[in-house]
Amino acid sequence: MATTEEAPAREAMEFDVVIVGAGPAGLAAAIRLKQLDENLSVVVLEKGSEVGAHILSGAVIDPIGLDRLIPDWRTDPETPLKTKVAKDRYLVLTATGGMALPNWPMPRLLGNHGNFVGSLGMVVRWLAKRAESLGVEIYPGFAASETLYGPKGEMVGVATGDMGVGRDGKPKPSFTPGMELRGKYTLLAEGARGSLTKHIIERFKLDEGRDPQKFGIGIKELWQVDPQRFQPGLVQHTLSWPLKAGATGGSFLYHYDDNLVSVGFVVHLNYTNPTLSPFDEFQRFKTHPLIADTFAGGKRLAYGARAIASGGWQSVPRVSFPGGALIGCAAGFLNFARIKGTHNAILSGMLAAEKVHEALAQGRAHDEVVAYEEAWRGSDIGRDLHKVRNVKPLLSRFGLAGGTALGSIDMWTNELAGVSLFGTLKHGKPDSATLKPISECEPIVYPKPDGKISFDKPSSVFLSNTNHEEDQPVHLRLKDPAVPIRDNLPKYGEPARLYCPAGVYEVVYTDEKLKSDPRFVINAQNCVHCKTCDIKDPAQNIEWTTPEGGGGPNYEAM
Ligand SMILES: Cc1cc2nc3c(=O)[nH]c(=O)nc-3n(C[C@H](O)[C@H](O)[C@H](O)COP(=O)(O)OP(=O)(O)OC[C@H]3O[C@@H](n4cnc5c(N)ncnc54)[C@H](O)[C@@H]3O)c2cc1C
Ligand code: SF4
Repeated sequence: MATTEEAPAREAMEFDVVIVGAGPAGLAAAIRLKQLDENLSVVVLEKGSEVGAHILSGAVIDPIGLDRLIPDWRTDPETPLKTKVAKDRYLVLTATGGMALPNWPMPRLLGNHGNFVGSLGMVVRWLAKRAESLGVEIYPGFAASETLYGPKGEMVGVATGDMGVGRDGKPKPSFTPGMELRGKYTLLAEGARGSLTKHIIERFKLDEGRDPQKFGIGIKELWQVDPQRFQPGLVQHTLSWPLKAGATGGSFLYHYDDNLVSVGFVVHLNYTNPTLSPFDEFQRFKTHPLIADTFAGGKRLAYGARAIASGGWQSVPRVSFPGGALIGCAAGFLNFARIKGTHNAILSGMLAAEKVHEALAQGRAHDEVVAYEEAWRGSDIGRDLHKVRNVKPLLSRFGLAGGTALGSIDMWTNELAGVSLFGTLKHGKPDSATLKPISECEPIVYPKPDGKISFDKPSSVFLSNTNHEEDQPVHLRLKDPAVPIRDNLPKYGEPARLYCPAGVYEVVYTDEKLKSDPRFVINAQNCVHCKTCDIKDPAQNIEWTTPEGGGGPNYEAM
């Protein structure tokens, strides 16, 4: 980092509300604030090169949030959600076949009737236009890299990262200092495992008395399929194969718009076998006889990955703190059983905006908007999360078959009678603590990709249009550079090689056959910002920090 002697001082701008992240949560908060008072100054920072460039989702969207935020969204000729869910299908896969689960015993809250299928990337681009038309200032290409505090330790805003710093940490001729964006309140809307959010949670001990947050990694491809194989509005989920005992997760496959199919696979990051590769599980899944046919004659258009915060009700930290609040998946408002978080991201953005607006109207600033923390559990967000609170702990305890069966019963009793036979179960360990030593596990061997339906990582990352300035400090920081080779390699085979969906981490040897002189290599330029390494590293030694603004994937419609 440049010192003050070497570099010009950074400028500061003042706003009523500073919002970090132009996802559905951040944009909903910005829109709601301006709906409530057009004179408020509201700014949104986005680290992607444009709004939507870092957004990756399924997505089947429950319209409850959009209906409240923008009641005319269905009749807007530019609406990004045009496909209504037409059919819901659940399959349990075995290696060679599968069984369709009937819809009638499914808890009603898992149904998708009335929901819409589309690209969340397109939804946020459309939301950003609406926000700008209300006077919200949106700055894409600027990562918030630092939190700013006032004299009493309260949050007073954020600073964007310096641009033009070399790999050696020294300023280059192109050096431009970051800017301070100071706000009476700051809303963190960074999505799952936000880098500033993580520090705020630690600093204000927001997770005290709550369960650890739990996560999954979702890997997704977008395909244009043969029109003969396209079934508009089909929403299909699968469980089981190819995952084995010690891992849970499943797939999604959504047909929408113009012969487009979103296909993806979610692996919960509490898996135990360090030789598991979520990327290769996904590639293998697509080759299943009941799945592969969808892609015959089709074209893979895009690839990407993103972590999902799945701890739900028990894991949501305190969402308000002096000077700011957490909204959307930064707070952990995703409904894991429904694999849906967009509706709660929008609802929480709106709720926080309403409470912040009340505080501003009373002439307050930089204090804690406790009313938001006090309101969410009794709101639609809380009701949504409360009913499914035991699904994840039951899966962790009883595995896929037992956990799914017990979880379904629990959702039924919650839905029909508002009670659970289990009370509120605990999540147990954080995901970084669940790996078994490699010596205790059977190595998982994956088939070679066929290049038609299944692919390798380099050709996949290519389709994410990921781009970082090469001459900049490595944004994946190791607290102790010795850990990967000294500890992780002998004990776990260095699992970062496998859980990273972009091939960022490698262990290379001077002599590959003899496995001599191992070195840990970080190809940071490939990073698709999924945050899995920050979550799953067993030593919690990898810290994901923001690279130079605008770097990362350039998703067009994920
Ligand atoms: C594979 C997958 C499938 C999913 N399927 C569905 C589905 O079908 N239906 C559904 O409703 N939900 C689904 N979800 C969940 C849904 O995508 C999230 O709940 C939702 O995107 C959360 O919105 P958010 O605004 O909180 O965060 P995000 O959508 O993650 O947006 C956060 C934004 O903040 C930006 N940002 C982060 N840090 C910084 C920083 N420091 N500075 C500047 N900008 C920053 C990011 O670049 C990003 O644009 C899925 C998620 C995944 C990963
Ligand atoms: S380096 Fe980390 S954040 Fe980047 S793609 Fe790999 S696992 Fe995800």
